[in-house]
Amino acid sequence: MSYDPQNIFARIIAELIPCNKVYEDANTLAFYDIAPKAPVHILVVPKGPYMDFEDYVAHAPAQEISGFFQTVSKLAQELGIAESGYRLITNKGEHSGQEVPHFHVHLLGGAPLPLW
Ligand code: 5GP
Repeated sequence: MSYDPQNIFARIIAELIPCNKVYEDANTLAFYDIAPKAPVHILVVPKGPYMDFEDYVAHAPAQEISGFFQTVSKLAQELGIAESGYRLITNKGEHSGQEVPHFHVHLLGGAPLPLW
């Protein structure tokens, strides 16, 4: 399987589709999920063409991966959920139900979350 450059997050990164942006830098974009599952539910997305977590870890430069997760942490703090707690989710592949084939991390919090 190869990366689909027409996927919805690629189109958001290219500014072909609008999003409710929380953060952006050269490598990363973060925006609110269109169908939130918690009071705070954002998606943190590298701008590069990575299909999923496996692809990202295998092919992104180590410094970029490190910066990406530092950004996730910074956003949790800035959104006021670092202390109360939050959940990170990344879906990979068919059995996970991954809907959008561009690597992303869900950052959820703002209230007690159901176990599953
Ligand atoms: P996945 O199942 O791939 O991990 O999650 C994809 C997420 O993207 C879902 O939570 C879904 O609500 C969100 N999503 C799908 N399309 C859009 C969109 O056009 N804009 C935004 N902001 N979120 C989207």
